[in-house]
Formats: sequence, C-alpha cells, structure tokens
Amino acid sequence: MTQEELKTPFTPNWCPGCGNLNIWAAFKNAAVQEGWDNTNTALVAGIGCHGHILNFVKLTSFEGLHGRALPVASGIKMANNRLNVFAHVGDGDCLGEGGNHFVHSARRNHDITVLLHDNTLYALTTGQTSPATERGMKTKSTPAGNPDDPVYPLAWAIASGATFVARAYSGHMDKLMNLIIEANNHKGFALIDILQPCVTFNKVCTHAMYQQNTYYLGDDYDPTNKKEAFMKAYEFGEKKIPLGIFYREEKPTLEEGYVQIAEKPLIDNEPKLEGLTDLFKKYT
Ligand code: SF4
Repeated sequence: MTQEELKTPFTPNWCPGCGNLNIWAAFKNAAVQEGWDNTNTALVAGIGCHGHILNFVKLTSFEGLHGRALPVASGIKMANNRLNVFAHVGDGDCLGEGGNHFVHSARRNHDITVLLHDNTLYALTTGQTSPATERGMKTKSTPAGNPDDPVYPLAWAIASGATFVARAYSGHMDKLMNLIIEANNHKGFALIDILQPCVTFNKVCTHAMYQQNTYYLGDDYDPTNKKEAFMKAYEFGEKKIPLGIFYREEKPTLEEGYVQIAEKPLIDNEPKLEGLTDLFKKYT
C-alpha cells in the first residue's frame, strides 16, 4: 500500500506535539516499506489516546476492551498465523488493566508485536497516574506526588519470557520505523516500549527530557545476555535512558507448538459440522 492508500477519512485528533503522531507516522512508513496490507496484517488497540491510531490507518483493525488488546491480538494470530499482528497499547491500558494478559502473552511467546505507547500516565482521562508513573511525580490523581514505585515494562517483559524486548523514543522516527520492522520479523512475542511524550498532561517526560537523557545501546552490548538485559531494563534516569534492543532470544512460538496450525492456519481448515448438525437442529 502507498501512504495515500493508508489514509482514512479521519484527521488525527491528537494534541499538536503528541508523541502518538510520530508513532503513527513511523508505523505507516514501516507498512509502506514492508508491504503490509489488508491481506497480511491486522491491528489491535486497547483504550486510551493511543487507541485512536486505528482510525487513522486503513488496515484491518480491532479495538479491544480496556487492557484487553493482547487477548484479541493473540486470538487473531491463533486463527490465522500467516498474519502480521500488531497490538498498539498504552501504559495504563496494558500494564494496569491488562497486566495479567501482558505477563501471560509474553510467557506463552505468542508471535505478535506489541507497541507500547508509553506516556507514563492515563492521558485520555486527563492525566492520572498509571503503573508507569515515576514515584514522586505530581499528577491529577496525586497532586502531592505519586507515592508508588513504577513498573519497569522491559524488566517485566524479560522476566515474563518475552523473546524480543526493545525501547524507542517516538521522536526518532526512522529508528522507530526500523525497530518496528525488526520486531515484526522476530518470531515470538516482541515488545517495543515507545517513549511517547504527552505534551498536555505530562510536564516531566517531555520531548526535551528524552532528547537530553536517552542514549543508544552500543555494539559492545550483548542482547542475548538475559542477566545483563534485566539489569539494563532498570536503568532510567538523568543521562541514562537506554534505547535499542535490550534482549532477544530464539525460541519456538506458541503457534508453532500447536499441531492443528503447524501445516496451515486454522481459517484454512474445512469446518467439520457433522457432529454439530443435530445440535443445531435442536435450536432452530
Ligand atoms: Fe497525546 Fe496527551 Fe494529547 Fe493524549 S492528551 S493526545 S497522549 S498529548
């Protein structure tokens, strides 16, 4: 598809400067470069500002309930494992309401790509703390400062069994595009934690803050070293927010483990209705 063909009748309504605009652009660039279209790709989103992305990309899309994008995405992959399946999720959405699904989707190594639009708060509801909010940060729901410690999504993903774990900054669109492509090419559960400034409600995690404090993991970093990756996933602070691929591992995907879909996707199988015919008759 071309950029023109990916357009929908809707104009993005994110706030000017919102990191979601960069993610949207990087994702569309990746789709054009890789030939993702309605025959080979499906998108899922949860609830939050990030979820609007489904309205602005003309690809087959499904909106999950709050926090439930990953069960929908893994179900789509199980039904048709030929598809590229992307789940756009938010930090509140995925790490809060959807925390359970996050852990178990990673553990099972579903072959899906999770794009975490991480603005470190609930933005759609006007700026309350999320599980990703730093301790001490003042938000609408914690005006005296957040009394909780945040979760570290990369550490959580590695500990849960994810096999591709990375972080990107939304302002570096070319690097983000390449990372999205690499994550999709990875066989297994891939997470990209995308630092996505919310310019309206988050005055701490700003574009300027990320531009001043992020750095890329170098060639001397070994992303196959799980212990080092786990330690690196906790590094977050002044002048030391790492970007790039933290961890990768080759491991059979959940879909490869099912003999029923090893040869061909479930949707290509003829439905066996003989046993159901009598049952249907009873109710018609
Ligand atoms: Fe983006 Fe924040 Fe505006 Fe939502 S409220 S569109 S996350 S800047």
